[in-house]
Amino acid sequence: MRSLPGLLQRAEAAPYSLSREELAWLLRLGPGKDREAFHAAACRVRDRVSGPNVYLRGLLEIGSVCRKNCYYCGLRSGNPQAERYRLSGETIIESALQVFRMRIGSVVLQSGEIDSPEHTAFIENIVHRIREETSPDFAIVLSLGEQSEESYARWRAAGATRYLLRVETSSSALYAKLHPEDHLWRTRVDCLRALRRQGYQVGTGVMIGLPGQSLEDLADDILFFREVDADMIGMGPFLPHLETPMKTAPASEEERLCLAVNMVAAVRLYLHTCNVAATTALQALAEDGRERALCAGANVLMPNFTDIGHRRAYRLYPGKPVVDEISGETPLQRLCASIEALGMKVAWNVPGTPPHFRA
Ligand code: SAM
Ligand code: SF4
Repeated sequence: MRSLPGLLQRAEAAPYSLSREELAWLLRLGPGKDREAFHAAACRVRDRVSGPNVYLRGLLEIGSVCRKNCYYCGLRSGNPQAERYRLSGETIIESALQVFRMRIGSVVLQSGEIDSPEHTAFIENIVHRIREETSPDFAIVLSLGEQSEESYARWRAAGATRYLLRVETSSSALYAKLHPEDHLWRTRVDCLRALRRQGYQVGTGVMIGLPGQSLEDLADDILFFREVDADMIGMGPFLPHLETPMKTAPASEEERLCLAVNMVAAVRLYLHTCNVAATTALQALAEDGRERALCAGANVLMPNFTDIGHRRAYRLYPGKPVVDEISGETPLQRLCASIEALGMKVAWNVPGTPPHFRA
């Protein structure tokens, strides 16, 4: 029988000090004193690295059109029921400036995957305009899927500083079961490496509680985050969508939530200096899902700034919170109050660059 205090002490003292087997063992912990000690250790590491700060990223879901057909996602091209939209350049720029004016340190432009020269130029122009009209510190984050290295380079030159591209799972065998044949795990990893070459702060992550996914697979995901040198990690529970081939999940909602929060703690204990997000998908399973992740070592929140109509149409999974998010002062104040109730505070007007990237 291993000693939990000894293991946690070692993990807190230095990054990368847990083995795959130890990570899998921690992920298994259910409610109780051991799990509390595990999460408390992760929070101590987080507090040492970034203090009590929570960094906000204003999320804009700029389009629901997608050329891909991932088996789990409501926006997949094979879903005729998905409502498709693309926001205009002016709408995106004005919304990004609203995020900036609200003293939020970064904006995330996310959409389904579109691959065309027109789209590359469209995004380039938007990024350029946002860059011109905000401060140099304001972080422009893109999450637009797999693209050519040339597109990544042009967007970087226009002023984008970060890119989020989840690998979804570090197991190429599991990836193959979640996607059609022409969606290649290797391409996803190559994109992550291209983003690194282009000088982006790179965010990646996985879905948790997928059919056929073991605790060892999740432990491997954490080792993979180190291998690709990720700066930011965004992970969430898998949420089955009835308009996709993956209609059911292998574990209950509470089990998936518990495992996802354990992943946050394990990632923090293993990587130490990366940013770790408390994602919206956690909130889809429990009202306090994101707060639970903040109590397990997360330090980033991504409040949604998409207008309500389009937010409803951007339906990756069922149960996505729609109205409870911030598009105005009052809900933002509510979010801040819930952060302060945990003894943390919102860091305004700062990009919240993780020490991992600065190093
Ligand atoms: N299209 C881009 C891409 O795939 O990288 C960005 C947008 S995509 C909708 C963002 C993330 O949503 C995906 O990386 C995936 O992890 C997540 N997602 C999609 N369907 C999901 C589901 N059913 N449950 C949980 N997360 C899901
Ligand atoms: Fe498209 Fe991204 Fe959904 Fe895959 S996960 S179908 S790439 S929006």
